[in-house]
Amino acid sequence: MFIIKSTIWPEYYFTINKNKITMEQTQPLKCLIIGSGPAGYTAAIYAARAGMNPVLYTGSNPGGQLTITTDVENYPGFPDGVQGPELVELFRKQAIRFNTEMHYENIMKVDFTGPIHKVWTEDGKEIEAHTVIISTGADAKWLGLESELRLTNRGVSACAVCDGFFFKGLDVAVVGGGDTAAEEAIYLSKLCPKVHLIVRKDQLRASKIMQERVFTNPKIQVHFNTETLEILGGEEVEGARFRNNLSNEEFTIALKGFFVAIGHKPNTDIFKDYITTEEGGYIVTIPGKTATNIAGVFASGDVQDNVYRQAVTSAGTGCMAALEAEKYLVDIGVE
Ligand code: NDP
Repeated sequence: MFIIKSTIWPEYYFTINKNKITMEQTQPLKCLIIGSGPAGYTAAIYAARAGMNPVLYTGSNPGGQLTITTDVENYPGFPDGVQGPELVELFRKQAIRFNTEMHYENIMKVDFTGPIHKVWTEDGKEIEAHTVIISTGADAKWLGLESELRLTNRGVSACAVCDGFFFKGLDVAVVGGGDTAAEEAIYLSKLCPKVHLIVRKDQLRASKIMQERVFTNPKIQVHFNTETLEILGGEEVEGARFRNNLSNEEFTIALKGFFVAIGHKPNTDIFKDYITTEEGGYIVTIPGKTATNIAGVFASGDVQDNVYRQAVTSAGTGCMAALEAEKYLVDIGVE
């Protein structure tokens, strides 16, 4: 059996025994990053360049929500736009270039009770770290229709700011009655001649001011008590079939875009016993920072942001988390 110490990753030693290489941790990691969207990869780039030897666990869907997006035209630096999966691959390559250690695995459990944070991988391996950056994102909620899944990225979207431009001059629908749906409908009304807002109840849940903006916008038609039965179209969205819940009457509207805005679910289940979250499950950070209620644990990206939810704002908070983690290591005397 050989034992090898790595200069690149000093927190480990490697044992080679009968052609099997095992990596053992000798001291807590300086920086563990959980999640691999723009926030996680940006945190990794900054942490790696600051000599923090970050270890990144990607989760089961490396790249996060960008991997289910086609054209991204609002990420600076790409004047001709870029495909979501391509952008994620560029983030990943940049993180690896500075020796981020990548694991294409899920973190299943955490323990943030002590000064050293502990996490467990899906095969039960325990990892210790001085700092943890949570960048696990939030997933859009969907209606659960077969036609919705089939036509995703073919006219069905969960982000008007990302995809609205592709529907300029065309009629669209937005489903939902909260602030997100109201905001998306107003945003789309600047691009589209007609926006149908589909609300399942007899009222909007959105804030008063947003309701007023919706009701006074001549391009937005609100359909209360209305449920979506099916999104129509072969290769692309051509319309949708709805039912009025009071009259049971079914009707069809011709549409080119169908936006689902019924909320997001932040991926915070494994952290909830330790980290303060707000009602919707989003991680609460100190205003203007990424620090959470636990010293040494930081949150970046959509997991702590229910307002902006953009790739570029995610990347920005990933940078902030790495810089805050670096300062924290100095404060606790870890070189
Ligand atoms: P919300 O949970 O507030 O609203 C979700 C909406 O979707 C509700 O109207 C709900 O209907 C509807 N809905 C849920 N499931 C379905 C379904 N299966 N079919 C049809 N409709 C459905 O989510 P939001 O994303 O709108 O907002 C989340 C939080 O973020 C809120 O606190 C909001 O205020 C905040 N926010 C703030 C913004 C800002 O300040 N600029 C912008 C956007 C969001 P029902 O009412 O019947 O339950």
